[in-house]
Amino acid sequence: MSLALNNIGHLVTNDPSIGNGPLGIINNAGLVADDEGNIVWCGPQDQIDQYTEAQPIDCYGCAIIPGFVDSHTHIVFAGDRATEFEARMEGIPYEAGGIQSTMTATRAASDELLSLNAQHLAYEALCSGTTTLEVKSGYGLSVADEERSLRIARSVTTETTFLGAHVCPPEIKQEDYVDLVVGEMLNACLPHAKWIDVFCDRGAFSAEQSREILTAGAKAGLGTRIHASQLAPSGAIKMGVELGVASCDHCTHITDLDIEALASASNTTVATLLPAAELCTRGPFPDGRHMIEQGVTVALATDCNPGSSYTTSMPFVMSLGVILMGMTPDQALWSSTQGGAQALRRTDIGNLCAGSRADLVVLDAPSHIHLAYRPGVNQTRAVVRGGKCVVGAL
Ligand SMILES: [Zn+2]
Repeated sequence: MSLALNNIGHLVTNDPSIGNGPLGIINNAGLVADDEGNIVWCGPQDQIDQYTEAQPIDCYGCAIIPGFVDSHTHIVFAGDRATEFEARMEGIPYEAGGIQSTMTATRAASDELLSLNAQHLAYEALCSGTTTLEVKSGYGLSVADEERSLRIARSVTTETTFLGAHVCPPEIKQEDYVDLVVGEMLNACLPHAKWIDVFCDRGAFSAEQSREILTAGAKAGLGTRIHASQLAPSGAIKMGVELGVASCDHCTHITDLDIEALASASNTTVATLLPAAELCTRGPFPDGRHMIEQGVTVALATDCNPGSSYTTSMPFVMSLGVILMGMTPDQALWSSTQGGAQALRRTDIGNLCAGSRADLVVLDAPSHIHLAYRPGVNQTRAVVRGGKCVVGAL
């Protein structure tokens, strides 16, 4: 079934060549997608008859944006850490070690429970407009448990990331664990993974260990990404840039030299900011606007995980990017869609250009500005993925 929409009051295409400003906005727009779920055309609505014979669906003047691309989540896990959250809110600081409590619950869970949890969170994300989701392993931390985490991740997305190097589990020495990650564990996870990631930070893995792990993953054919400078400043961002990773994520304690390095690699390496993690750990917010002005390519993502950022909502993350990271509403929208796509090295999503996937969100709002302007409010009228309405109604 093809799709034809008209009377779109405000269409964000992310293609400046077909609309106004950096977001390529077309007012009073139409959009047509083919039977395969790819966009054929979008433009002024009075031209729609040239591109479809079907009767277009009337959008009654509301706004449409590209589907969100959440390029950083950890949704394969069991249990929760509400008690740890409560203790943190009472004043105990966040440290990497809390990951082990989720590891224990995840190892004890059945495949069915882990799958149900991941599917539930992926559906929750879809309901707020996320049409592409990256999912990491990292709560199994044994060969068998990492392999099954990735197998389950693969059942909800093609953007799967092997994060065996999340933290070192308690039963093994760290040097031996690094050997396991780059050896037997990598081989077991390879069939289900597209990316490899490492938590390079205080209490997790050193820069040298991280380099070894990412290099082994790249040699095996995986794309690379890195958790960098969340808990303390380190050489992780510069190393990530040097290795050509697709994305340096967190960047909470970013330095001027890190910003320079990221700006010099803006076509290769994206800085993925995770403001909900800063919010939920009461961490400092990096200045997203400053990074963009210095030439860094910035993505926004949820970091959905049970310890430090238990949200699936990209609209909420956009609000935080604007209100607490200094970003403009335009910058936050771009970073949540096209920026996320770039962090996953995808050109077929994150925009509404001819040839791209018809992944889009119909908003109960007159423009994308309302997403940041009304924090925490669900303004999703419908979500379309691959040309099909999968949430709400058109
Ligand atoms: Zn993460």
